[in-house]
Amino acid sequence: MAPKYHPTPLFGGDRKALAKELGRARTMTTILARQSAEARTKGEALIKQADRLLCESWNERMWAGGGPIDPSPSVDQAINGAHARLEIECSRCKARRVVDLATLRHTPTTFVHDLASRLRCSACAKAGRRPPATLLQLSQGARDPDPEA
Ligand SMILES: [Zn+2]
Repeated sequence: MAPKYHPTPLFGGDRKALAKELGRARTMTTILARQSAEARTKGEALIKQADRLLCESWNERMWAGGGPIDPSPSVDQAINGAHARLEIECSRCKARRVVDLATLRHTPTTFVHDLASRLRCSACAKAGRRPPATLLQLSQGARDPDPEA
């Protein structure tokens, strides 16, 4: 885009004032953009903290009473809150499994408690059973070494 043209004022005083205003506006452009970036970074860190706390709150409820599982964080909140691993147990054979939420196909409106009916035990499925999963807790980080690292 071509730079905006400001017609040069006839008088020296006006020319000086225009140059000063242009300089001020250009400085403000940089300052305001930096402030915006800083505010966004702080905001994103706060949202991350809120998501992490929501996961920890849900974990405490699961640990204390085993439920109710609803309400729960959304899958995206769990991932953003660094609790991307869901520990589940088969309600029939009690086999435990850790599900990596980041690899699950899901819509942004999927909540962790929605997964109880979706996640099935493969061993029981082979035996012709489809028992629901018991949700245990959300955990942090990677249990297995990250192949990308
Ligand atoms: Zn099972």
